[in-house]
Amino acid sequence: MDWKISVSDTKWLGREILHLRNTDSTNEEIKRQAEIKNQGFVVVADTQSAGRGRLGRTWESADEGGIWMSFLLKPEISPDKASQITLIAALATALAIRNVTGLPGYIKWPNDIVINRKKIVGILTEMSTGPDKINYVVVGIGINANISSFPDNISDYAGSLMIEGNKPVDRNRIIAELLKKFEEYYEIFLKDSSLAGIMAEYEKLLINKGSEVVLSDGGVPMVRTAVGISDKGELLVKDESGVITTVLAGEVSVRGLYGYV
Ligand code: ADP
Repeated sequence: MDWKISVSDTKWLGREILHLRNTDSTNEEIKRQAEIKNQGFVVVADTQSAGRGRLGRTWESADEGGIWMSFLLKPEISPDKASQITLIAALATALAIRNVTGLPGYIKWPNDIVINRKKIVGILTEMSTGPDKINYVVVGIGINANISSFPDNISDYAGSLMIEGNKPVDRNRIIAELLKKFEEYYEIFLKDSSLAGIMAEYEKLLINKGSEVVLSDGGVPMVRTAVGISDKGELLVKDESGVITTVLAGEVSVRGLYGYV
């Protein structure tokens, strides 16, 4: 597609954008160039032939109607804080969708975006670390924008902005708004390497808040009520007796919310 992304509102994110017709995965493309590019470098592709989700899962992105993009960060924070960046990406994406399309994008902790119980966005954050330090972080965001149908294996729970809103969306504007929002919240995060300054905004859009979640880490599934997030990005859950515990990102999957696992 003829991308015309205008990101005049950001200071450093998206000052360099590489548009590709096809790539294996925009995260991989960023990684190949990570050492020679500055923080804020963005890659957008019309199609991906090997898009990935978390835990080695596949991200379907052969359709030219999507927004398949990644960007490069070089934060000076300790590696154990990096997983919080994925929640910032989710917040920025949900807000960009809302602001540009008016559609009610909600966050499924930690980093999916859902509309009308359909999964619209997947986010994959990866990093390269040296001893005690981060070399770089890649944030990959796949948004089902102007997609009219999905492969059979995901068609029950995948949705797109075009399907949910009954009209095509302006992908250039969504990207520009997303980069602007991400930069804004990321700079707040960097002040104290914590989500303290953005948790309230995140929780407003957290679809799990106040709902039951089923936590499963391979053992016996546990039913809890999600009450919010911590300033480290953990999910706070309450048991029947009101005791609140934390769930670490990546440690368990939160299931049973949308009729898909
Ligand atoms: P998780 O929901 O566990 O975070 P990921 O964000 O890693 O999952 O995404 C991978 C999963 O998302 C796949 O296993 C598949 O079920 C589903 N999926 C793959 N491609 C798409 C897509 N384009 N739209 C919606 N869901 C998708």
